[in-house]
Amino acid sequence: MDPSAIIASLLCPFLTVVTLGHLILCVVSPFGACRRCHGRGRGRTYRHCTRCDGTGLRIRFGRHLWNDIRREHQQGQR
Ligand SMILES: [Zn+2]
Repeated sequence: MDPSAIIASLLCPFLTVVTLGHLILCVVSPFGACRRCHGRGRGRTYRHCTRCDGTGLRIRFGRHLWNDIRREHQQGQR
């Protein structure tokens, strides 16, 4: 077995575990901390964080994708 095949055989299960882990995280906790204010809801100068609108939350990428797919599916059923 050549080295590239070994790397590929190790990378596939790793990526599967990472993907499934992210999916589970998106189901259990669809919101993460805002990256700009780190979940505080305000900036360094006690001003309202405009990126998360002061909530300190952001929707995770996987959940955003899931919501888009579900919305598209529901619109297709009308
Ligand atoms: Zn924020």
